[in-house]
Amino acid sequence: MSIQTEKIDIRKLNAAELIAAFEEVGEKKYRANQVIEWLWKKGAKSFDEMTNLSLDLRNWLDNNFIINKIRTETVQRSEDGTIKVRFQLHDGHFIESVLIPVARDERFTVCVSSQVGCSLTCSFCATGKMKRIRNLDPGEIVDQFVFINEECEKTYGRGLSNVVYMGMGEPLLAYKNVLQSIDWLTWNKGINLSPRRITVSTAGIAKMIKKLADDEVRFNLALSLHAANDAKRDEIMPINEQNNLETLMESLEYFCANTKNKVSYEYIALENFNDTVQDAKDLIKLCRRFPVKVNVIEYNPVEGVDFNRTSDDKMKLFTQTLLAAGVRVTIRKSRGKDIDAACGQLANKN
Ligand code: SF4
Repeated sequence: MSIQTEKIDIRKLNAAELIAAFEEVGEKKYRANQVIEWLWKKGAKSFDEMTNLSLDLRNWLDNNFIINKIRTETVQRSEDGTIKVRFQLHDGHFIESVLIPVARDERFTVCVSSQVGCSLTCSFCATGKMKRIRNLDPGEIVDQFVFINEECEKTYGRGLSNVVYMGMGEPLLAYKNVLQSIDWLTWNKGINLSPRRITVSTAGIAKMIKKLADDEVRFNLALSLHAANDAKRDEIMPINEQNNLETLMESLEYFCANTKNKVSYEYIALENFNDTVQDAKDLIKLCRRFPVKVNVIEYNPVEGVDFNRTSDDKMKLFTQTLLAAGVRVTIRKSRGKDIDAACGQLANKN
């Protein structure tokens, strides 16, 4: 067996790459599969734990690879049951994940991060005020699920039912790693989560949405819409300048036609900005193109941002206008706002 000089994170390899690395040093494929099971089913933190491997093989793994696990730094509990966890990564950076329990519907959702920081600078979002530092590795995304799942079992007596990629970062700019993490979450010999219980949320990158369709993904897609005409969307989401609404609608039509997966729009209601009847009418037009559900979200104030929450009356009129036009609408109450865990609030505050 050869010894490499620099250790690589073994969880950066996909199954085929790991098997190839084993075969290259004369190890059998089934040994590689045992390691895969330790890593992605049993959540091993070290090679020492892999007790069904020979000592020689464990030593070789230890000399050539590392396992970069994330580490819980703080756990904050909201009065409404939401739990926010701040994790430290192996290189010292921090990310946040949120557990959102809806016990009534037996729905326990984790909102995971896909990048350290974000490059898209949406004006209403706390993460957008941080610089993008790097994409998360697949293992760092899966670890968020595993840790929060344990927290969910401890607190609520049952595991997670859903995953949304709506935390820090733009998932479609960490495309390869996000898809790899979903492969591991849905691996039928591991966590075995149904792809129907996974939603990836994007600020709207048309060519990557088409790529999702070409790659025949099976999870759901959410577009963070937040404004239903280009002038307003340009104002709050600079990504709209290269990906205007018509381009996005075309890419979503392509996604729907080719995957038959569910698509939803996320729409944060911002007082006197996107909450009028005319805004609702603009949104109705965008709901006519393909089957889509709209989640209207209460806004949570972010330090240094001028937007306010829409009043209850305006919210009611806005959603009733949508409903009257036959649009499927859900109102998302703000969750975890006392611990800065609500939509748009993740920012690694100390
Ligand atoms: S809303 Fe999403 S895409 Fe926009 S800045 Fe925040 S994390 Fe980035």
